[in-house]
Amino acid sequence: MDDDIPYLLLTPGPLTTTRTVRAAMLQDYCTWDDEYNQRVSDIRHRLVRLASHGGPPDSDKFTSVLMQGSGTFVVEATIGSITPANGKILVINNGAYGHRIAQIATRLRICHQVLAVEETHAPDPDQIEQILQQDRDITHVAMVHCETTTGMLNPAAEVGQLAQRYGKVFVLDAMSSFGGIPLNCGQFGVDYLISSANKCIQGTPGFGFVIANRKHLAASHGCARSLSLDLFDQWQEMEERAGKWRYTSPTHVVRAFLQALIELDEEGGVVCRHQRYTANQTRLVEHMEALGFTTLLPRSLQSPVITSFLFPRDTGFSFMPFYEALKRRRFVIYPGKASHADTFRIGTIGNVFPDDVDQLAIAVRETLQELNLHI
Ligand SMILES: *Cc1c(COP(=O)(O)O)cnc(C)c1O
Repeated sequence: MDDDIPYLLLTPGPLTTTRTVRAAMLQDYCTWDDEYNQRVSDIRHRLVRLASHGGPPDSDKFTSVLMQGSGTFVVEATIGSITPANGKILVINNGAYGHRIAQIATRLRICHQVLAVEETHAPDPDQIEQILQQDRDITHVAMVHCETTTGMLNPAAEVGQLAQRYGKVFVLDAMSSFGGIPLNCGQFGVDYLISSANKCIQGTPGFGFVIANRKHLAASHGCARSLSLDLFDQWQEMEERAGKWRYTSPTHVVRAFLQALIELDEEGGVVCRHQRYTANQTRLVEHMEALGFTTLLPRSLQSPVITSFLFPRDTGFSFMPFYEALKRRRFVIYPGKASHADTFRIGTIGNVFPDDVDQLAIAVRETLQELNLHI
């Protein structure tokens, strides 16, 4: 752990960044200047390359658009910009972020159907296929990749290929997985992949981005329900003016993000980062189980991104004292978000290593003693 940070963020975003990523923010940039806009263009190319895992950058088929705001703004920009007035979205919901896509559709008065799945279950492709066969009005399918609510990894490739087979546009909220889990948009059948700066790419918060199928994005001209969140217009500006954003861009955050992308390459790319996150998560569960905790999800559904742990029963366990005691030991964890179980969550993404997880385990053991919890 760096000495200059007060605690290690074991949260799924914002997360612990490197000192060099934070240092990249120590300069002011002009949004009209070529040098800055070339960096934006560099970022856009790198993102398409990252979304073409295992093959050459698929820049004939895909492009990328950056958008101001947190991840949710970019989900809203996408949903609101790409669904035509007579479109209908099938939203697959097995957690808070799937629910949020449906909320966005409701707010924007976009016709949609929700497939509600229990939070601890993976969506069933057969059930999705049935809906696609029955409801011919559906034009788009939207799903979350890693459902950060629980830590579940949803079957993106299966659902994407299904959507493709039925000629539907597939929108994937890969907010908490992109850059940390290998993904190829072409192979997964993804037409719009949404993520943000402050998750697995390990940048700082302030903007998000979309990897988009050029053909579909081009066809979405005029669909947007918002001016500032118009994905097509932002794309046009970035294409025609060589990396320029519409309206003020978060220059410091953008510069830090480029540094984070460079560091992702230096680490060995997404494959190596995925291995590190997996090593973190495996180590975390080993330690926590040894201390008496159990996970909400079975191992088969668990992502390497974040893990939900059940409150130990009949011990008087409550989150805040546990959180505070861990924070005094320089670890910050996350409250739970599952609807039907008392949980807390520990993220294993960011500039975090198995050694840090070992240190966390010591801190948890001390905390249990301090709070007199016997589990
Ligand atoms: C983090 C996250 C978001 C966006 O959250 P913001 O707080 O708006 O950045 C959306 N979907 C998923 C799956 C996420 O993990």
